[in-house]
Amino acid sequence: MCGIIGIKSCVDISTKIIEKLKILEYRGYDSAGVSYLKDKLYCKKSVGKVDKLAKKIDCHFDIGIAHTRWATHGKPTLHNCHPFLSSDKNVAIVHNGIISNYIQIKNELSNKNVVFDSETDSEVIAKLFDNKTLTIDSIRKVCQKLNGSYAIVGLTATGILFGAKKGSPLYFAQNKDEFLIASDIACFEDADSFFTLQDGEYVIVDKKVQFFDDEKIIEKISTQLDFDKYKYAKTHENFMIQEILQTPTLVKRYLLNQQKLNINKYKNVYLFGCGSAYHCAKIGEHYLRQLNKNCKAIVASEIGEEKCDFDNALCIFLSQSGETIDTLNALSLCKGKATTVALINNEFSTLARECDIIVPINAQKEFSVASTKAVTMMIVAMLCWIKEQSYNDYKKVFNINENVLKELANKLYNNESLFFVGKGIDHIINCEGALKVKEIAYINANAYLSGELKHGPLALIDEKAYVIVSCSQKRFVDKTKSTICEIKARGGKIVLFTPFLSLIEALDNEDYSVLLPNITSELVPISALYSYQLLSYYICKNRGLNPDFPRNLAKSVTVE
Ligand code: GLU
Repeated sequence: MCGIIGIKSCVDISTKIIEKLKILEYRGYDSAGVSYLKDKLYCKKSVGKVDKLAKKIDCHFDIGIAHTRWATHGKPTLHNCHPFLSSDKNVAIVHNGIISNYIQIKNELSNKNVVFDSETDSEVIAKLFDNKTLTIDSIRKVCQKLNGSYAIVGLTATGILFGAKKGSPLYFAQNKDEFLIASDIACFEDADSFFTLQDGEYVIVDKKVQFFDDEKIIEKISTQLDFDKYKYAKTHENFMIQEILQTPTLVKRYLLNQQKLNINKYKNVYLFGCGSAYHCAKIGEHYLRQLNKNCKAIVASEIGEEKCDFDNALCIFLSQSGETIDTLNALSLCKGKATTVALINNEFSTLARECDIIVPINAQKEFSVASTKAVTMMIVAMLCWIKEQSYNDYKKVFNINENVLKELANKLYNNESLFFVGKGIDHIINCEGALKVKEIAYINANAYLSGELKHGPLALIDEKAYVIVSCSQKRFVDKTKSTICEIKARGGKIVLFTPFLSLIEALDNEDYSVLLPNITSELVPISALYSYQLLSYYICKNRGLNPDFPRNLAKSVTVE
């Protein structure tokens, strides 16, 4: 989380650095700040989004660093905004990550009369810079004192720009006389290649550019960047709706160029993910069980609580960004014991570099914090491993009447809570639907297995309750009829998602329905997922919220 950037140029970058910071805003938007060099180092900071910071920039400069924050330590207040200055004000730094031993460092420095202005962990990094002249050794000395994770971009009063990395992503690019260090290659629009910093590596931009590891100068090989592939203009009111509506085209492209994965030769398969990626892992588990595979989906942060049998095992790691720290930690526990696969949307990510096999989902950059098209593409990718998929099967998947969903959103947006009820694969898709509603509409939405209703959740149902019931599989139709009766007997209103007319016909006037397309049974859940994404978007809009920037969240979860 947190987006960091540094630019050294010979022309004014005051507008450019803010534009680039906006690109990184998906990584956090609690506060934003910039430090630049004129006669000395200056800092400008503001709470909230980058636009507010932009209004405070009232001069030109050609070298600066900037930060957009997702707070982990210290509230999102002005004094906790990055950048932070060293005590002598000769070094400014921005940080992405968590310094786990910051209290100890802070105590040590406070005993030496160093004064702190913030409650953040990050400020200790700035205050550790106490040398008059900055060298690679002084940067290394600071970094060696830090435990936890970091990507740091720093700027000195003498005009040196530097970067250091352990655990959080950091990239470097050069475009003619301009040098950039950033959390995401999405900032490198003008460059035709870039360098990926590995853990324990440093870059220093002074009179020349030099890379170092913990001991020596190193040569690094650049990666060609075809930026057109990453170019991404906003064509709709919000990224979220733009990204949901891109899904049909992305699926079509993917199916023309499917990547297969030979699952058969493995005895055990484990799938790891967090949040929406975990729901995708559960879907993968569901498909693999149909093939009688020994498999298990695991929440990545819970790997320590699991006993995996690594004998002839395949471990699949699902992460849109490929930088989710909990997933990377799970990978580090499986590496060397099993074949590892990255199912990702960022082929330059840490997960991509560290896994034996990469399966890109080719969803293009996803900016909206709540994942939509990437979720669908992960599921499509996994379906492709299991059986040959043709576009003809998929053509009808996205045939959903959007107007019905808009009307439904009008009915539902004022509710305090929302229930999702279903069986089997429908329950997994419902968990994802409920997560989407929680994330962007802040409604307490929860998914329950239909068979479990009577074991507790039914106590929550009354005349005010709206219950989204889904039934995508023919074999669930009779059970779903009973579930609907149970809910209606307690006064709850039904919102039914199904392709089965017989179920819809059994509803009352006060109930609602969304007709899913009549297609092969394994694709109907994808139609339901797409409908839920649209529904949550319209509910969020009705509540007057910004779907792209949900409160307290950030897209790339690079802290534990
Ligand atoms: N720990 C730092 C802070 O709270 C950076 C957080 C992050 O990278 O998400 O300001």
